[in-house]
Amino acid sequence: MQKSLDRRNFLKLSAAGAAGGLFTASGSLNAASAITPSIKAKNNIIYRTLGKTGIRVPLVNLGFVRSDNPRIVNLALDMGMTLIDTAHGYNNGRNEEMLGEVLENRDRDSYYLATRLRGDTEEQIMEAFNTSLRRLKLDYVDILGLHGSGSREHTLDKTRLKTFAKIKEQGKARFLSVSTHSNEPEVIKAVADSGVYDVVFTSYNFRMEQFNELKEAIYYAASAGTGIVAMKTMAGVYWDRDRTDPINVNAALKFALQNPNIHSSIPGVDSFQELEDNFAVNHSIGMTPDELKDLRLDQSTAGMFCLGCEKCIKECSKRLPVPDMMRAYMYAYGYKSPALARETMDSLNLGEEACNNCASCSVRCVQGFNVASKINDIDRIRRVSPDFLV
Ligand code: SF4
Ligand code: SF4
Repeated sequence: MQKSLDRRNFLKLSAAGAAGGLFTASGSLNAASAITPSIKAKNNIIYRTLGKTGIRVPLVNLGFVRSDNPRIVNLALDMGMTLIDTAHGYNNGRNEEMLGEVLENRDRDSYYLATRLRGDTEEQIMEAFNTSLRRLKLDYVDILGLHGSGSREHTLDKTRLKTFAKIKEQGKARFLSVSTHSNEPEVIKAVADSGVYDVVFTSYNFRMEQFNELKEAIYYAASAGTGIVAMKTMAGVYWDRDRTDPINVNAALKFALQNPNIHSSIPGVDSFQELEDNFAVNHSIGMTPDELKDLRLDQSTAGMFCLGCEKCIKECSKRLPVPDMMRAYMYAYGYKSPALARETMDSLNLGEEACNNCASCSVRCVQGFNVASKINDIDRIRRVSPDFLV
């Protein structure tokens, strides 16, 4: 039987030492919660508080990007997950509609619903938000978010801040958030400085372990009272495009949660087994040596996860939004979610052909990705009707 690591051994084995040390169910985390007490008592779930929102949520909740199965939502809630995360654009709105069907049969105080949307003007934001409320069959959401910000400027845009604040004042969103998949440190700090947003949903996983700027930004924001939710903890689910080499996603999830400034996580699932495996992490995040080894912290395998460092953008003659396209690539091949890949590509307002196929591509990815090849591969998805994609 494998032994769990103590703190000293964990730090020794981790490539750079995990941010924040090792926490276990019996450690410094509080396992109490006001929500669904009977399930909590039965399952001994570990909770953390989502910054100044005061909301206490399990370490692992449900991200709904990879499935549209209502039975998975019901089971997740029955097990004790309380934060359900979706987005206006997932599955062209069908994801929110499905959640609306499930949640109308649930006690409104037994879960927290988070959704997010894009929009440049007040009219666009309000229209998208009202559509989301209608699909979800709710009067209010618990956390309303700005979807996919990649800069301080975008995050602190006055129109967006004003419109989101207005929605909160009207009582239609209890808390406000921003999600980010690229240039995360800048966005996370902007969220903390905004005075409007309460929570940030950020990419955070073992592949980003050397990304000190990200860890510093998370520390900065958490110290300012911002709730931090980790996304992309599974770093693409597979190491390879052909899905022959799966990532140990449970180890990946535990690794992300070693950072005490990560308050919760929302890994997506597409099967009951995955849900059960993820849920088990709510009882303990202690890691074995084999689990650490599985994560290949020596960076010997490039995998499919783009760090979002944006170093390649200025190298591209067309200044393409490479990190977003690499994320779409990961959605299609790693997450098996072509619809999400298509939605991501559509959101980028690319021309007819994304890549110019320059005689010699000037992009040098820090991870060694052949960026032009991946762009051309994923760009094909824009020629498929969204009706054929799920
Ligand atoms: S080949 Fe494509 S990715 Fe490379 S520099 Fe040209 S436009 Fe950019
Ligand atoms: S350099 Fe590589 S890892 Fe960094 S954003 Fe570009 S594609 Fe992603």
